[in-house]
Amino acid sequence: MSPYYIQLTEAEYKRLTVYEKRYREKARLLITERVNHYIRFTGESYTSLSIRDQKSRWGSCSSRKTLSFNYRLIFAPSKVLDYVVVHEICHLTHMNHSKDFWGLVAEVMPDYKIHKKWLRDHGNELNLLTYLETQGIDIRL
Ligand SMILES: [Zn+2]
Repeated sequence: MSPYYIQLTEAEYKRLTVYEKRYREKARLLITERVNHYIRFTGESYTSLSIRDQKSRWGSCSSRKTLSFNYRLIFAPSKVLDYVVVHEICHLTHMNHSKDFWGLVAEVMPDYKIHKKWLRDHGNELNLLTYLETQGIDIRL
């Protein structure tokens, strides 16, 4: 369990996991749709796509062409989510952060730098409790 949730009661934690399930499913649907949209520009394909809750990673791409994404991207502006999608998709072509890799990212998403910076500056604010608060939803009993 994340230390972030330790201050919650068991009942509150249960309510939170209901919301988490809902947003994970939303993330899975949206990210799959965005991957299928952007992958057309690269001529690549992937073998599987998974949604996780990694502590400090937004996405990853393996040499076996499996993609995974952090479900908390669903709380980010849509262009920021798209940037992470484009980033991981471009790793299907270049498994590194070479000049060629960033060149491909820029081809697919010319304004990627603003979204990359947004994620660096605000990524740590993307979490379920904070998001629910902005929606006026209080899970505390
Ligand atoms: Zn990368």
